Amino acid sequence: MKPEIVRKKLLGWYATHRRSLPWRETSDPYAIWVSEVMLQQTQVATVIPYYLRFMDRFPATEHLAGADIQEVLKLWEGLGYYSRARNLHRAAGEVVSRFNGRVPDDPATFRSLPGVGEYIAAAVLSIAFGQAVPVVDGNVKRVLSRLLEIDTPVNRSGAHKIFQEPAALFLCTKHPADFNQAIMELGALICRPKNPDCRCCPLSGLCRANRHDQTAHYPKRDAARKIPHRHLAIGVILKKGKMLVVQRPMDGFLGGLWEFPAVPADEGQTDREKFEAMISADTGLKIAMDRRLTRIRHAYTHFTLTGDVYLCRHAAGRVRLKSAHGHRWVTLRSLRRLPLHKSNHKFLDALEAALEP
Ligand code: SF4
Repeated sequence: MKPEIVRKKLLGWYATHRRSLPWRETSDPYAIWVSEVMLQQTQVATVIPYYLRFMDRFPATEHLAGADIQEVLKLWEGLGYYSRARNLHRAAGEVVSRFNGRVPDDPATFRSLPGVGEYIAAAVLSIAFGQAVPVVDGNVKRVLSRLLEIDTPVNRSGAHKIFQEPAALFLCTKHPADFNQAIMELGALICRPKNPDCRCCPLSGLCRANRHDQTAHYPKRDAARKIPHRHLAIGVILKKGKMLVVQRPMDGFLGGLWEFPAVPADEGQTDREKFEAMISADTGLKIAMDRRLTRIRHAYTHFTLTGDVYLCRHAAGRVRLKSAHGHRWVTLRSLRRLPLHKSNHKFLDALEAALEP
């Protein structure tokens, strides 16, 4: 398969089929960087409104660097993978302090910034600075795996390196920005995970999986591990019209986001005494459980969650946190201004209805 033919066909297709997306209307490296960070693990349609709000509030590295992380997390709320937002915020700070606000175009320097891994570096350096660096993301791996019938499972560690070789071979060094976006776009629009639209694909005459009628068998994947399930008992602790929320430690899963205190629970009915004792150990407060408000279910990528939400009264004591980063007593109104993680959002309407006078 001649790389120059693949290039020509892909670039020709991209010229007429590329979607008009907000981050394609700019050549600002910072704006392109923000879009690529958001697009990691997230669909284009979900990203667009987040991107527009984010760029409206933080149009340049200086604005992001000078912002409070709480505000950044609030704008990121619901997009998930919050370490992306924390890293971007820290990286913007470094860009301002070390490079006068200009995103560095030197690969090693750009890679030294928080959160800039191989994919982000390749995407930003090629799209914003026109450097001939191949991108390898899920879409690219899927296209290449079908085009060449590559048997390496795409989710296996080390797969990235295997796919990087053909990605580099096919890359158009004259137009790396368009080529990289073209192959990702083909994966997103035509060479979809299920039911690829081979009849409309510019590579259909070259594609091995298509020729052998094997598209359903590529890309290969190692079987996914079973996702564990957790049960939590969540306490809405009320005191003089306000409720206690705690902030998760800055580093780690959902870092910096706010939530109601929660403790691991047994499946089914929560044991009242055990719950009160565990909440007390975690917060320093003596509480009394009143009643169950609701049950929520939520799925993260690495576990699923069932949470029973209980209305509780503060009985005595001052807050002394064991694991959380900070705490606040808030009204429902001020709670809605904090970056709250998604599973807690799921019961805010039920809580509001329960607290109505
Ligand atoms: S021909 Fe089909 S399987 Fe092959 S790259 Fe195109 S869409 Fe994907």
